Amino acid sequence: MDFFEATNCYFQEAARRMDLPANIEKLLVTPTRELQVQVSIERDNGEIETFIGYRVQHDDARGPMKGGLRYHPKVDLDEVRSLASLMTWKTAIVKVPFGGAKGGVVCDPRQYSERELNRLTRTFTDQIHDVIGPERDIPAPDVNTNAQVMAWMMDQYSKYHGHSPAVVTGKPLDLYGSAGREEATGRGVVLMCREALADLGLSIEGSDFVIQGFGNVGSWAAQILHRLGGRIIAVSDVGGGIHNPAGLDIDALRAHVAATGSVVGFADCSRIDNDSILLLECDVLIPAALGGVLTEDNAHEVRARLIVEGANSPTMPAADHVFREREIPVVPDILANAGGVTVSYFEWVQNNQQFTWTEERVNAELESIMVSSYRTVREIATTKKLPLRTAAFTLAIGRVGKATVLRGI
Ligand code: NAD
Repeated sequence: MDFFEATNCYFQEAARRMDLPANIEKLLVTPTRELQVQVSIERDNGEIETFIGYRVQHDDARGPMKGGLRYHPKVDLDEVRSLASLMTWKTAIVKVPFGGAKGGVVCDPRQYSERELNRLTRTFTDQIHDVIGPERDIPAPDVNTNAQVMAWMMDQYSKYHGHSPAVVTGKPLDLYGSAGREEATGRGVVLMCREALADLGLSIEGSDFVIQGFGNVGSWAAQILHRLGGRIIAVSDVGGGIHNPAGLDIDALRAHVAATGSVVGFADCSRIDNDSILLLECDVLIPAALGGVLTEDNAHEVRARLIVEGANSPTMPAADHVFREREIPVVPDILANAGGVTVSYFEWVQNNQQFTWTEERVNAELESIMVSSYRTVREIATTKKLPLRTAAFTLAIGRVGKATVLRGI
């Protein structure tokens, strides 16, 4: 099953329970616009290289479309479509006034210099600038993109449209970024761990966590959990994983990653591969790397009491059914990793207001939105006897559907 099919499978499960008419269902799953562009750059050695870029704009019933930009060799239209759709449901769950979009460029950024990535980002922006904008579609960082990439995008877009800080979020603090944005997704994941653990009669302090992926989401989640007394017993990145049942010193690990570029080689732990890390016994498993890692092949062997999806689409539908049968609760991506888009919304608000919020205010508003969203979803799950994922889709479809009908076709 491909990613868009998987997302629609979750959507349809909720839609069926809501008796959504087939024509509205079709309208809601069909992306508004899909753009494929050529991104040709001159490499540092003078050679020309051509990449394929995508921007999928899924739905704008609730506001301008919003979603990250991914640089990865495995990016394809199906994946971007699925991620764009997830953004529509995610923005609705946390009730920020945006729709859903996503973008990607098929490339392995590790093979290119900073100057080449700068040119690639600007050329991609040249190709899509007339369909994005602060009131149309607002990109943000995702896998292998960061604040610097957003700064280049903002600069390039502004050459066409005038000074436009609100065209992207996740910008550097010195260039209209928001305090708390970089760690926002990880912070939101931690809040979801806290809430869902409490529902199981557990707390972060004293619980064991396994985190796949040690990039923006995984490393911030690890750091905040560690500060709150959680024991991070294993983490991994693209190079492999490390395991220490007594708990890893996350501050020292972050210093090691800053110095070496990988978690691998960290002192006092054993190595573990990226498949086995998902099967370690723990209280909370946090997939925070790529999609499609929990499948029917490994779901029976997962030994976590709770799964909190930091990544987008880490759980395929067949695995999700296994977790339901095994009564392992899953806090779904469209809720668990919504902290990023929530603080992106705060950044957009600050850019539009030309007024800066303090980090305390950002974190407090983030906590309030994430916790109330979790409780609304859990309430639906409890009263309708649904898994959290179906409850989350039910909430999102209701909000997007109402906006669509009220606006009219
Ligand atoms: P990132 O590029 O900062 O980090 C990705 C991490 O995953 C890196 O540690 C990388 O080494 C690791 N990785 C890559 N391939 C792997 C593999 N095959 N096995 C194990 N690890 C691997 O990306 P990120 O921003 O942290 O995003 C991670 C996930 O979270 C993605 O699914 C993304 O869509 C999702 N997400 C990110 C944000 C955000 O604000 N950055 C918001 C919502 C969701």
